[in-house]
Amino acid sequence: MKALKYEGEANVKVVDVPKPSIKDPTDALLRVTLSAVCGSDLHIYHGRIPGCEGSVLGHEFVGIIEDAGSEVRRFRPGDRVVSSFFSSCGHCYYCRRGWFNQCASKATFGYGVHFGALAGGQAEFVAVPLADHTLEPIPSDLSDEQAIFVGDILATGFFAAERAEIEAGDTVAVIGAGPVGLMSIMSAQLFGPARIFVVDMVDSRLELAQGMGAIPINAAQTEPVEAIKIATGGFGTDRSIEAVGLLSAIETAINCVRGGGTISTVGVPNHTSGEFPYLLAWSKALTFRSGWCNVQAYMRRLLDLIAAGRLKPDAIISHRMKLDDGEDAYRIFNAREATKIVLTP
Ligand SMILES: [Zn+2]
Ligand SMILES: [Zn+2]
Repeated sequence: MKALKYEGEANVKVVDVPKPSIKDPTDALLRVTLSAVCGSDLHIYHGRIPGCEGSVLGHEFVGIIEDAGSEVRRFRPGDRVVSSFFSSCGHCYYCRRGWFNQCASKATFGYGVHFGALAGGQAEFVAVPLADHTLEPIPSDLSDEQAIFVGDILATGFFAAERAEIEAGDTVAVIGAGPVGLMSIMSAQLFGPARIFVVDMVDSRLELAQGMGAIPINAAQTEPVEAIKIATGGFGTDRSIEAVGLLSAIETAINCVRGGGTISTVGVPNHTSGEFPYLLAWSKALTFRSGWCNVQAYMRRLLDLIAAGRLKPDAIISHRMKLDDGEDAYRIFNAREATKIVLTP
């Protein structure tokens, strides 16, 4: 089958690889109908994630069950499903407490040997471990494009907004208008804020954010903290969401928020450690939340919100390409010429 493989820094290729098969009775084999390129795939592309050489990439995908192991209870061949970007068992210590992203058996698709050595979904087929808990059925009235982002970026945006504790009438700053920032804005709107400010430097992304009801601030032209302070009577926003993955963005988020406010950070970190404005966070008595999304807790809810027309995540898709053109897709996405790229096999 065809699959997109990471071969080394800035080097991905569509190659022929053996079709995966069911190994454990809890596995399902999926015929992929749509996959997407994620911002966190670029961490691999830039050579920042060790142990990815030779991996089939891709952790955002939907498809049709081709085959299911003997212990898979929820699915049978022919079912349309969306996958979380990681697998979870549903019954370990963490899963029983609802923290699926800490699951003792978790593994991330297409992220190399240090994240569970799972082949990804930028391919014609993908094997999904612990299928009953990792996959969610797609309602028949939703398209693949509508459903795909509940497995990663939409769930992450919702998780960010929920953990920011947004209440009706609040002001919110979203730092970063990439795919996760845009999903955070869309999700934040569900909690009833009065105003959402969004900070980025890419005009096309800021325009999309404005279309979702956010107030754009181009950090290349305006000092964002200053602009937000002026717009909020000198106090800053009640909440801020960081969707970039840079300490400088976290610092902006902290500077934007008023004393007693909440910071919610979900950007995949670009550094392992660094300087943190500890004194400022302490003196402002901030609530600080961070983490990668607990996807399996949100997939069903988000599909229902999409079906009800209250979330339109497919609005951010800018490029529809063939898996065969995967090499181009990574180049374009890396150059920020695309907001979001989906691939059909
Ligand atoms: Zn991702
Ligand atoms: Zn578990």
